[in-house]
Amino acid sequence: MKYISTRGSAPALDFEGVTLAGLASDGGLYVPESWPRFSEGEITAMAGLPYAELAVRVMAPFTAGSLTEEQLRALCEGAYGRFSHDAVTPLTQFDQQHWLLELFHGPTLAFKDVALQLLGRLFEHFLEKSDRHLTIVGATSGDTGSAAIDAVAGRERVDIFMLHPEGRVSDVQRRQMTTVLAPNVHNIAISGSFDDAQAMVKAMFVDPALASSHGGRFHIGAVNSINWARLMAQVVYYFAAALQLGAPQRKVAFSVPTGNFGDVFAGYVAAQMGLPIERLIVATNVNDILHRALSTGDYSAGHVTPTAAPSMDIQVSSNFERLLFCEGGRDGAALAEQMRGFEATKAMQLTNAQRQGAAALFTSARVDEAQMAQAMAYAAAHYGEIIDPHTAIGLHAAREVGVDPAVPVVTLATAHPAKFRDAVERATGARPALPKRVGDLFEREERYDSLPGDYAAVRDYVTARATQSA
Ligand SMILES: *Cc1c(COP(=O)(O)O)cnc(C)c1O
Repeated sequence: MKYISTRGSAPALDFEGVTLAGLASDGGLYVPESWPRFSEGEITAMAGLPYAELAVRVMAPFTAGSLTEEQLRALCEGAYGRFSHDAVTPLTQFDQQHWLLELFHGPTLAFKDVALQLLGRLFEHFLEKSDRHLTIVGATSGDTGSAAIDAVAGRERVDIFMLHPEGRVSDVQRRQMTTVLAPNVHNIAISGSFDDAQAMVKAMFVDPALASSHGGRFHIGAVNSINWARLMAQVVYYFAAALQLGAPQRKVAFSVPTGNFGDVFAGYVAAQMGLPIERLIVATNVNDILHRALSTGDYSAGHVTPTAAPSMDIQVSSNFERLLFCEGGRDGAALAEQMRGFEATKAMQLTNAQRQGAAALFTSARVDEAQMAQAMAYAAAHYGEIIDPHTAIGLHAAREVGVDPAVPVVTLATAHPAKFRDAVERATGARPALPKRVGDLFEREERYDSLPGDYAAVRDYVTARATQSA
């Protein structure tokens, strides 16, 4: 499988290349040159497979040429063996029409584990093969950081530097990062906002001083959802859920709590591969750039409003570019132009083709703080389920949008309620306990350094500590 950039001028790469590169050199994101498509018979034959085996079937077309099926199977068995539920992503029924897909049974309690447990193993496999070392630099508003750190802690050939905005992540989220004491893990608390931290990370990817350090052997890698391998791993659970509900003979709809448009784009990919998806509901909080873009064509960024669903508090959704490319005639030059305009003015209009293409599969809904809290209270009262604030946004949207009653609607449960227990307690009166697998999180020693919001200080910190032995 070959991958091309959404902005048309970076070289095409194979799966190994896109996994290690993250962002394309022209500033675009990598997408497969064409979508692999399964026949109805092939999808039917996937019913009942164990999760890791289903993952091999769904991902093999994307990794072809870079991994043998045996190698892919070993990586999937390692990644999904770490989940606390042996179905990995179990489905529970709320009522006649509504279902919950529990994506939080991984080590750090959010859906990001599903992709990052695999990505950590892919990094190790490819780096070993090419005898290289990778320095991962990332910024997190909470969930990506802990999932990425868990996935690479103690692994050879990888260092990870994770920036979080000091004092702006929950205590559970911070401790899940800072109590990992493996020598290749470096936590940095930055004074400033998540956007400040994110801007510093982006600057490092294009800094010539970094590229030439360590005798030109400094390789920088990405763990956020601009990395194609993450989206690919998320396609699998759309298949898992739909198969259980009668696909491919029956259509299924999904409601997805959305921030960076990674998770819901994986649903789009599943549909391109032949999974009969009736509708993808893009559920946003009050940071509603995607809702405005999908409902009126206006993609313009404002200021971030902090909410009780912080993993969705973003204004620019990186992965939306992948949809605009795929539905805008796959014209890299035109999209590069459109994105340059957006980067200059922080606003753009979708073309008619992009709007109509998106409308064929996506519906959006904006959910405010009161509606989110009501959805948590409703789930507790009517279904006896305690759900987290992000999941509540998905559930509210699922019930509001009005899908044909004959079509099952699956809400993606993106985080365990204990990860956001203050907000859950405010809405439901119940304080969810941390699951056993996170252990004595509050007794463990923490280790991190605090740095000012100053780019040079952060860059020097990284270059002084990165290993880059190969
Ligand atoms: C990251 C995250 C989201 C948003 O997912 P995207 O792929 O960025 O759209 C939603 N909920 C939780 C709990 C998350 O951690």
